[in-house]
Amino acid sequence: MKDVVLVGGGHSHVQVLRSHLMNPIPDVRLTVVVDHPVSIYSGMVPGFVAGQYSLHELEIDVRPLAKRAGARFIRAAATRIDAANKRIELTDRPALTYDIASINIGSTVIGTDLPGVKQFAFPTRPIADMCRRLDASFRNPPRTPGPEPYRVTVVGAGAGGVELAFCLRERLLAAGHTGIAVTLVAGGDRPMPTRPARLGDRIIAAAKERGIRWMGGRRVVEVQADAAVLDDGQRIESDLVIWVAGATGKSLFTDSELPTDDQGFVWVDDTLQVETATDLFAAGDCAVLRSWPLIPKAGVYAVRQGPVLGENLRRRAAQQSLQPYSPQSDFFTILNLGDGTAIGAKWGMAAEGAWMMQWKDRIDRAFMDKFQVLDLHGQAIDAFSASMPNMAEMTMVCGGCAAKVADTPLRRALARLPPTPDDDTVTMGLSSADDAVAVRRGDVEIVQNIDAFTAFTDDPWLVGRVGSLNAMSDLYATGVQPRYALAIVTIPEDEQNKEETLFQVLSGVRQELDAEGITLLGGHTTVGEALMVGLSVTGFAKGPLWRNDGLKPGHKLVLSRALGTGVLWHADMAGRARGPWMQQVVASMLRGNARAFRAIRDCNPSGVTDITGFGFAGHASEMLRGSVMGARIDLASVPALPGALELLATGERSTFHDQNREALKALRVPPNVDLIRLELLFDPQTAGGLLIGIAPDQAEQLVAALHEAGDIHAAVIGEVTLPDPHGALFDLT
Ligand SMILES: Cc1cc2nc3c(=O)[nH]c(=O)nc-3n(C[C@H](O)[C@H](O)[C@H](O)COP(=O)(O)OP(=O)(O)OC[C@H]3O[C@@H](n4cnc5c(N)ncnc54)[C@H](O)[C@@H]3O)c2cc1C
Repeated sequence: MKDVVLVGGGHSHVQVLRSHLMNPIPDVRLTVVVDHPVSIYSGMVPGFVAGQYSLHELEIDVRPLAKRAGARFIRAAATRIDAANKRIELTDRPALTYDIASINIGSTVIGTDLPGVKQFAFPTRPIADMCRRLDASFRNPPRTPGPEPYRVTVVGAGAGGVELAFCLRERLLAAGHTGIAVTLVAGGDRPMPTRPARLGDRIIAAAKERGIRWMGGRRVVEVQADAAVLDDGQRIESDLVIWVAGATGKSLFTDSELPTDDQGFVWVDDTLQVETATDLFAAGDCAVLRSWPLIPKAGVYAVRQGPVLGENLRRRAAQQSLQPYSPQSDFFTILNLGDGTAIGAKWGMAAEGAWMMQWKDRIDRAFMDKFQVLDLHGQAIDAFSASMPNMAEMTMVCGGCAAKVADTPLRRALARLPPTPDDDTVTMGLSSADDAVAVRRGDVEIVQNIDAFTAFTDDPWLVGRVGSLNAMSDLYATGVQPRYALAIVTIPEDEQNKEETLFQVLSGVRQELDAEGITLLGGHTTVGEALMVGLSVTGFAKGPLWRNDGLKPGHKLVLSRALGTGVLWHADMAGRARGPWMQQVVASMLRGNARAFRAIRDCNPSGVTDITGFGFAGHASEMLRGSVMGARIDLASVPALPGALELLATGERSTFHDQNREALKALRVPPNVDLIRLELLFDPQTAGGLLIGIAPDQAEQLVAALHEAGDIHAAVIGEVTLPDPHGALFDLT
């Protein structure tokens, strides 16, 4: 098994992922590392700017594509490649090792170090950031449409600059601006100077027809709040400056001391191997071919390099000889003019019309159909599924807190044991419904907890972090700061690099323990079928423990975090969850409960529990039974993680969901209830938030403190009532 790591989700790598999905590279574990879960297909960006496409239509959600291909997905930015030791250094997490790696991270825009560019202009790179900023400004326009002048300056007249000038004009016209003045300014004497002169002439003519001012042979040297300033001091008054002044390399390769040209692009040979590192490949904008150093930085080349790169990664893994890549001598340039027409050029000829735009649209949509797995609501996109013959939908078994023994077998097994001998040092033990335990020796009350789960995802570092947070959570729910920990880790027996996996897990474990000043005292490692992480955590009580059986009637119930981790991770394993959703799930889980614990500390809660594998309904039932109380829950106010309700609506369920549905018997469900949100109550949570009983006059203050602590979804979701004479624990409203 070789570790092949793809850094970046550019046009070449998405093809490697798709090819691996259709025809897996044998004996390879594929990992993709991206700084953002969604990549942008640049060919449709101008159409998006013109209002012809929504942002989602040009997004490639790399995560579900990777998951369907059986690849690991890691969201982090690569900061340095240590080619000698085959390590990729990443932001905010330990480096990854590789046997073979490939880099497809695109380029950045030249000239952003000029005065005022970063502050006042809209740079086109990273392209995803530009699209998101534009999307936000289209949704909330900075100024009201009308006849006042709206002056736009586009700096740079490569394909991107030309298209943006035309397409922005159309967008502003459609929005109702009538005083638009667009200027296209660049150093060359005609737009797209490296392409045939006829194309440049046509662009100038089309610009003139539309009132777009062309300023060739000029250089912008500064951007101010209201102007782009030329090298002769002339000011082009501008309300918006788009900076698309050509591509330059990112610092990754120079920081890694890899061979680069003077722009920072890494030198590769015909096989796309980095010249000084045979197990390191690079493709797309970030690479420069020694044999063809002058090919333009255009997505078409990154696209064409994809299949060769995929084949060469396959061959390198099998130690076979590699294929050379040779770029096409010319390529079809089709420029979207934003009004339903386009100019196309190849072999020195150029043509223009609506048919050209229709053709471009067909090409672009056909490309996207190969990579867009899910729509905005997480529904499978038919065109993608249709292009995947014989691919059965995957069924998955959940890890995390959803991989539990159900409540009933556990209770029954415990009931068959002889009673535990009386022990008056135990202050919280088996007879209590709390997950943590406590013993008192003299003045010291020691509180402990043990928690373990099988991995809920294939990223061992993340599993380690969440495993730590999950084990600490039970102590926080009793009002105690953890102080010491022991860890147990099971490494899969078929894992070849056990040391690396263990290192990643323990790095994650330590990261969370260290942040809270908890000392890892020791632990135990085993090999087994699947990765498993567990911790036993110890702390010392400084006052009365919070218990989960002290709820009082009239007290409000506050939930600190949104629900839905179970269904989201279940869907993620099979590539049915959107990358942006998973980014928010991970962020929510990694917030842990330490900050919430500190927010609750000042409020004297009547009951606290953490929501884990038995879901909201299971853990809340336990609290209510222990307290001999009922509750009224306002279902609409129960917060859901992004994507959770969409997935539940499609019938997606975590493995443990149906067992948690047993708790339905304790619910009184009114007619017309939101049946999807109802299911959320049974979703098993991994490292979930806290459910807190609190006096009504303190509830809003607690919610505000939780928001302040980062738990932005915290909400009052109901209140404690006297026990129901008919035995129902919850009344849903
Ligand atoms: C407005 C505009 C319009 C354009 N239109 C066209 C066109 O119509 N046709 C055309 O051929 N070209 C066009 N281009 C050029 C085109 O955008 C690029 O040539 C193309 O995007 C390069 O593709 P790539 O695969 O090399 O990189 P990209 O598409 O830029 O992909 C880079 C990937 O790497 C990720 N990444 C970046 N840094 C890191 C890191 N440190 N660690 C991990 N991941 C990282 C990014 O998130 C992304 O997933 C246009 C450019 C612009 C600005």
